[in-house]
Formats: sequence, C-alpha cells, structure tokens
Amino acid sequence: MKISFEFFPPRTNQGKEKLTQVRQSLSVISPEYFSTTFGAGGTTQNATLKAVLDIQKNGNIPAAPHLSCIGSEKSNIVELLDKYKSANINRIIALRGDIPSDMHDIGDFHYANELVEFIQSEYNDYFHIQVAAYPEMHPQANNIASDLAHFVNKIKAGANGATTQYFYNADAYFRFRDDVQKLGVDIPITPGIMPIINYTQLLNFSNMCGAQIPKWILERLKLYETDLESLGDFGFDVVSNLCQTLKSQGVGSFHFYSMNRTEPSLKLAKSIV
Ligand code: FAD
Repeated sequence: MKISFEFFPPRTNQGKEKLTQVRQSLSVISPEYFSTTFGAGGTTQNATLKAVLDIQKNGNIPAAPHLSCIGSEKSNIVELLDKYKSANINRIIALRGDIPSDMHDIGDFHYANELVEFIQSEYNDYFHIQVAAYPEMHPQANNIASDLAHFVNKIKAGANGATTQYFYNADAYFRFRDDVQKLGVDIPITPGIMPIINYTQLLNFSNMCGAQIPKWILERLKLYETDLESLGDFGFDVVSNLCQTLKSQGVGSFHFYSMNRTEPSLKLAKSIV
C-alpha cells in the first residue's frame, strides 16, 4: 500500500519544530512521499520552498512540492523547478491554484494542463507529475462532462498520476475512476483523505473547496461539536470505513491531508497498510 501525507508550510519556528516531530512520527510507516502545499498568487511560496528543502535534506522520505501556476510567469516556474531538481526532488503536484480575488495579472498559464505540458517540455520526464482530480466535480466546472474532459487533458499533457479532493462518498470516487477509464485514462487515481477532527474547520474547508459532507455525517458532527472525543471517535469510524471500502475495490494508494498533525492520519493509515 502506498501512503503519502500532505502538510502546509509552517509560519513560525514553533510550527516548524512541531512539523519536524510530526514527520518523524509519520515516517514509521515509510510513506512514499511528504507533500507541501503552495499558496497561489504568492502568499506562502517562499515558505513552501523552505519546508520542502527541509524535508528533502533532513529525513529519508522524499519531498513533493505542490506548484500552482496561476499568476506565475514561465521564468518563475523554471527558477523554482531548477532549485527542486538541484535538491534531487523529482515529484511535483502540478495545479492551477485558486485565483485570488485581487489578482489582476493571470500570468503565463490559465489551467493546470498548460503547466503539466510546460514542465514536460522543459524537463523531459525528469519529474513525476501528479495532478488534482475532483470526484464530485470541480466547483467552477460548467458540468461533469467538461470537467472530465479537462481532467483528461491534464493526463494527455503528461501527468503520471492524480490525487483527489477529499470526499466522504466512495461511490463518487468509483464513478469518477470508471468515467475516466472509459475516456482512456490509465493512471493511478489516489484518493485524498481528510480526517474528521473539527466540525467548524471541516465545514469551512468544504465550503471553500466544494467537497460535500453527507447530511447523516453533518448532523452527527453538529451534535458532537463541543465534545471533541466523541467527534474524533465518530470521525475515525466514518473515514476508516471509507478507506476500507476504497481498499476493498482495488485502491492501492492513499494521500492524507494531515493538517500538520500526526493523529488521526497515522491511525487511519495504519488501519489500511
Ligand atoms: P485545473 O485542472 O486547471 O481546473 C480548474 C477548473 O478549470 C476546472 O473547473 C476545470 O474543469 C476547468 N478547466 C480546465 N481546463 C479548462 C479549459 N481549457 N477551458 C475551460 N475550463 C477549463 N491549491 C493551491 O493553491 N495550492 C496547493 O498546494 C493546492 N494543493 C492541492 C492538492 C490537491 C490534491 C487538490 C485536489 C487541490 C489542491 N489545490 C491547491 C486546489 C486547486 O488549486 C484548486 O482546486 C483550483 O481551483 C483548481 O486547480 P486544478 O489544478 O485542478 O485546475
């Protein structure tokens, strides 16, 4: 079973130290890689570079930087990728990114497929490129057919794999996997798994990224909003059942949105390895 964990770049020294410990704890199950998010439009880009180089230098789990292209020039992308290549980093999560409302200059890229094509043309298969997938449809897509076609374009442009937005409905993932297979896509589609640990935070994330929380889950989370122990137990049940269902249908890789915490991602990951 292939497992990966995602972090956001820490903003303080304390956050950095905590993340180092988190990484050490997660390393016990030998993850395939540790990825680090990247703020579209410049917000955390230097912090991402620092965090990624730190992972690559101070551990034995490979670092995989996220790279969003919106607002970037080709020259900035090359500058960053050259730094990653010099540090022996060979896996990139290539994204468009969310367009900040105050962004006036979109830059050289409009969509992620253009970034994938550019990386492949500049680096000739050096990087393993992972792209984003949306089993419940990307929130800005006009309809499911066009969203699937755009996803296929990213694979045709040279992506090697995909990681999904989180979801709590396994059928959405299976349908997506079937649909893209029918369109000729034959790459691993790794489910992105979001542990349930905080009601308000999950609600906010889900509103932002368009992931649906089924009503039967939402109602229970509401009930346990201030009882974190019950919420954690219930959340673990829901997400570990989801992982088991996915595993039973042939899923061989999982990506955990760790939120820079060891538990509950590690507990969930251990339940499927
Ligand atoms: P795209 O694949 O370009 O798609 C974006 C939208 O445009 C879709 O609706 C698609 O259907 C549509 N589209 C694509 N091509 C065309 C076309 N030619 N014409 C018209 N419409 C088109 N964001 C960050 O800022 N930083 C991160 O680190 C980050 N990490 C992520 C990791 C994962 C695993 C996932 C799933 C998402 C992540 N995101 C991150 C969020 C992502 O950047 C946003 O969801 C963004 O809105 C879309 O990015 P994308 O790469 O899927 O874009």
